[in-house]
Amino acid sequence: MGPGGVAVGGGTILVVLLVSFLTGTNPLVLLNLVETVQDVSVPQSNDAPSPTKAPSDELGKFASVVLTDTEETWHVVLPRMGSNYEEPRLVLFSGAVRSACGLGSAAVGPFYCPMDAKVYLDLSFFKQLSQRLGAPGDFAQAYVIAHEVGHHVQNLLGTSERVHSQQRLASTAEANALSVRMELQADCFAGVWGFHAKRDRNLIEPGDFEEGLHAASAIGDDQLQHMSKGTVQPESWTHGSSQQRTTWLRRGLETGDPTACDTFAANRL
Ligand SMILES: [Zn+2]
Repeated sequence: MGPGGVAVGGGTILVVLLVSFLTGTNPLVLLNLVETVQDVSVPQSNDAPSPTKAPSDELGKFASVVLTDTEETWHVVLPRMGSNYEEPRLVLFSGAVRSACGLGSAAVGPFYCPMDAKVYLDLSFFKQLSQRLGAPGDFAQAYVIAHEVGHHVQNLLGTSERVHSQQRLASTAEANALSVRMELQADCFAGVWGFHAKRDRNLIEPGDFEEGLHAASAIGDDQLQHMSKGTVQPESWTHGSSQQRTTWLRRGLETGDPTACDTFAANRL
């Protein structure tokens, strides 16, 4: 993050891929850390205190800045959809964390828990990325946060609950297809934030959107599967293909309008 605002640069995903190859780490593991929201749904009986800590380091501050900016956006935008925005809590953690949705860990990656309306970010992961990148402010971080906030918006709109109840009655393939629509909508919502961060607050630099779209493309399920298995199985996708993720992120970035993000009504994703 530069002194004048959030300078988000791309290329992170490619760096992750490179790092995976260099370190021998399964790129799926690393990439899941970057992009996945874990909609873990196993409730815990007691909500142990989460290790929330003051965002003292640069990455924590960056996460707070991005989160605050998403709040500015959604306070304006969500009332147009008939809801008021309630801000999510941000939980920064290292290693493992207990949420109302169960145990999260650095191996799970950043996630959103609808049951406690908190966004969980693993800072050790961001730190690792940052150190390897040599730059703390980058698009992957902002994108992860905005995407998780997108899941929070879905929670406020009742979408998460509706989809999860549909998934419980569905076959695995159908449940995955619903998950893809959820994730693509979260991508689109992340784009809605990007639109307003740029237009209303001038936080986005030229080239950021293109880099973001490139990142969305790099984390498509088809791309990940091709890399890890050499084959592509669309019925097992949970986040959408490269093209789908790019398409919906772009839709949000270009319209700034969450009503344009109705992936559930779309015949073609
Ligand atoms: Zn997600």
